[in-house]
Amino acid sequence: MEKKIWKIIALMFTVLIASLTVSVYYSHQNFMLLDENKSLRSQGAQLNVYIELLEDKNSNLSSQLNALTGKLNSSFQIKRTITPNFQIVYYYGIDEYADAILNVLDTALEGFQQLFDPISCEPSTMPIDVFIVNSPSLEYAVARSFNYNIYIETNNAMLSTKKGWIGLLVHELSHIMLNVDINAFNEGWAMYSPMVRIVDYVYRQLGDQAWPQPYNYSRYEGIERFLDTLPQQYAPGNLWAAAKIFYEIDQKHGSHTIGSAIYKLKTEYMPWLITSPYPKFNLSDFKDALVNLTNDTTIYDLFRENGF
Ligand SMILES: [Zn+2]
Repeated sequence: MEKKIWKIIALMFTVLIASLTVSVYYSHQNFMLLDENKSLRSQGAQLNVYIELLEDKNSNLSSQLNALTGKLNSSFQIKRTITPNFQIVYYYGIDEYADAILNVLDTALEGFQQLFDPISCEPSTMPIDVFIVNSPSLEYAVARSFNYNIYIETNNAMLSTKKGWIGLLVHELSHIMLNVDINAFNEGWAMYSPMVRIVDYVYRQLGDQAWPQPYNYSRYEGIERFLDTLPQQYAPGNLWAAAKIFYEIDQKHGSHTIGSAIYKLKTEYMPWLITSPYPKFNLSDFKDALVNLTNDTTIYDLFRENGF
């Protein structure tokens, strides 16, 4: 009981601080899309979608948004709403890619709801905004997911020639489904959930044709690649260690247990604080939720052994 009181006091203090400060946290994940031949592969990157974590401590949400708005204004934009869950803003001339992106995201969202949890994986703000910005000089696509939006900087050449798009889109969507206070853990979730579960779900629904240049993303961005990459990239405390935790819980208790823990987190742990559509939860609460659901206390060991 005493612990609970301290928790409430701590949370009230957090609310106070949050209301006093103008700075906002943001989750900043940069991605690079790589094709099979790029040099980074020889530096150890095993994925078409190469992830680089660039935590920019000096930046904040408002400057990020200003930069993106500037880029949006500098190219022709059209705005369309195609599905109830997603709205896309994109630069002129990429209609077929915008359609593909919406279709993939919609199918992926359905996958999250079916394989994890129907309610906790329902967008709390609808629709989720997707921005596609034209950056002609970029060599790799950069994608970020923050504040319930997905931002992608890319160009025509990358859209039509590079692989990795399905994995990238599902990765960004997965950040919206679960966001905790440890970044590497979020990245692990966003590797596990697409590669082990959702990319394959999308493939079963849409097949090779999901992208205008059809390819077998289930093979390149799915579980086969996950199991291939994990032992090579694993180190305690890194994103692959987090991905391994999710994978092992999935193997033992099923993906729905992970979905139920996310639901528990969102409804029981700090429900009165969820005024943001994109809340950040404590990893320790997520562990407790998993253990409470399964009565399996070895889950604590699993986290500890893997550096979390
Ligand atoms: Zn990420």
